[in-house]
Amino acid sequence: MSSSIAVNKTAHPFNKQQLESVLTQRFFYAPAFEIYGGVAGLYDYGPPGSALQANIIAEWRKHFIIEDSMLELDTTVMTPAPVFEASGHVARFADWMVKDAKTGEVLRADHLVKGVLEARLVGDREARGEKSVADTSVDDGEKKKKKKVKAIATRLPDETVHLYESILAQLDNYSGPELGLLCKEHKITNPDTGNEVSEPQAFNLMFGSSIGPTGQHPGYLRPETAQGHFLNFSRLLDFNYNRIPFASAQIGRSFRNEISPRAGLLRVREFTMAEIEHFVDPLDKSHEKFHLIKDVTICVLPRETQAEGKTDLTSIKVGEAVSTGIIANETLGYFVARIHQFLLKIGIDENRLRFRQHMSNEMAHYATDCWDAEIYSSVGWIECIGCADRAAYDLTVHMQKTGKPLVVRQSLKDPIISEKDVVEFNNKIMGKTFGKDLKFVTEAVKDIEADEPRLARFKNELAQGSTTLKVNGQEFKLTTDMVSVKHTVIKQTTREFTPNVIEPSFGLGRILYMLLEHSWWTREDDQQRGVLSLPMAVAPIKVLIVPLSAKEEFQPLVQELRAEGVLCRVDDSTASIGKRYARNDELGTPFGITVDFASIKNRTLTLRERDTTRQLIGTVEDVTSIVCALIKGDMTWSQAEGRLDVYDGVQAVE
Ligand code: AMP
Repeated sequence: MSSSIAVNKTAHPFNKQQLESVLTQRFFYAPAFEIYGGVAGLYDYGPPGSALQANIIAEWRKHFIIEDSMLELDTTVMTPAPVFEASGHVARFADWMVKDAKTGEVLRADHLVKGVLEARLVGDREARGEKSVADTSVDDGEKKKKKKVKAIATRLPDETVHLYESILAQLDNYSGPELGLLCKEHKITNPDTGNEVSEPQAFNLMFGSSIGPTGQHPGYLRPETAQGHFLNFSRLLDFNYNRIPFASAQIGRSFRNEISPRAGLLRVREFTMAEIEHFVDPLDKSHEKFHLIKDVTICVLPRETQAEGKTDLTSIKVGEAVSTGIIANETLGYFVARIHQFLLKIGIDENRLRFRQHMSNEMAHYATDCWDAEIYSSVGWIECIGCADRAAYDLTVHMQKTGKPLVVRQSLKDPIISEKDVVEFNNKIMGKTFGKDLKFVTEAVKDIEADEPRLARFKNELAQGSTTLKVNGQEFKLTTDMVSVKHTVIKQTTREFTPNVIEPSFGLGRILYMLLEHSWWTREDDQQRGVLSLPMAVAPIKVLIVPLSAKEEFQPLVQELRAEGVLCRVDDSTASIGKRYARNDELGTPFGITVDFASIKNRTLTLRERDTTRQLIGTVEDVTSIVCALIKGDMTWSQAEGRLDVYDGVQAVE
């Protein structure tokens, strides 16, 4: 929203406590089952939180599904176990946990290492007089609060500082046993008790269940929506007229039994995901719309930089990142750019967004390249979207498990002509000669046919009149009237292949929380008053209507605005107008309309803009049509200022 008055949004430092208390008070979200004591990692969204999420989803659908003609799905959450056995989740969808050797308290191994090493670095900076001591934190599983790790001012040798920084820069690259070694080597203990911790153990994050009354069919709540796309691949391909590439998309709930859910929405046990599976020819990962995004500039942290123990960011155009091989292919680059554009559109601060490439150990073994969109907040950089090239892994494993062909068959414009030796049988003579052994003999010859050098020897021997095969310890003599090897020209008119998959995977709760932090600021002249500068498209409520009192006379005007399709909320409480506006600034409501007695008498309304607090006045018709244009994005606030008079606060008559 442009404005003719500059607003200083950084006059006061970000106050997380203030934001969190507003989010709870205004019921953006709150711990689920709170009156029963709550359960870590489960949250309910209230009216503004639900509306904000619904608006982010609506923008997501427009930006990805509609603009790129994706095929939308809604598949089930409850999934039979064989699906996750095939996908590898039963064996590998796990995090590493350690237990306090004496109390048995459970901690996530990588979070423990991170919290303790960061605290030591902070203590070192304090000892060097560089920075005041601040506590860092380690997540605590079941309690709602984070456990503080006290930073003690202790000077560390320079090599130790470098070593810790290097470990932290590549923490995601460590396996469970390696995290265990780190705990031993660096004497990392449970910060609460000082006790040693156990060897890391893998903990599977899926919630198990059973389907049906007999309990015979084990199942799981899905930890991602992706499998629903893969299992429906053949139907989707058919729907897409058997053409590739295409993408499917799905927005839905996922469940992960996190070891240490964090306070807030960042690590929860039930959350909404939006996932895209883009199916592409493995031999051609170009993207037809790549030229449209090649000049988008993004901020990257490639794996080589992390491997050097550094976290320096590089600004680069997506076109250059792909042409120089930093990003593996055009389609992956296309999605990285589209994710960047989407996040800016909904209000994420570009300066607090980076794309971090996965390091080799961090990436799934089958993936060829993976980039996380990470967003910076008061808790540091957090992965909010993963974007991976998963090669042909998913379709291949489901095909192997089910025997169903999850493949693309393409007619070739130019048939491929090849020549090769092919075995031909005289079935009548073979059947008569070998009887019940016919099957073994035929299979043995087929094996030879598939092996070029053996086939050449077989052909030579037959040219001498006969050859002898050994099958199951028996010898069988083959003669030229039974079998022959012919040099044949083969014309291949179709190609069959398993597509590769490029998967952008969004966690909506994390994005929503980051957006709240990036949008929050306090007014220069009043530190108590916070404002949530959410962009119009995602703001939960677009217009606040403030009648001067709840008198019935105002009702027709309010109805008139609603009839014009203005998505509004009426605050006819007894609080002062200033207070009513202030609490709607905290809800992110972009505009306010005051209806007073002059409105009724003169048919005028005043219009207020959230960020500048400037007010304009005009006739009911003008204000209504201008508000509608502002909401649709057809008009900016400065244009509205050119169309209506400035309100000087003297119009109201009692
Ligand atoms: P992943 O499949 O682990 O790459 O996760 C994809 C996205 O889901 C992440 O980028 C997060 O935004 C989100 N996500 C994963 N786990 C959680 C969680 N426990 N709580 C909230 N969001 C999550």
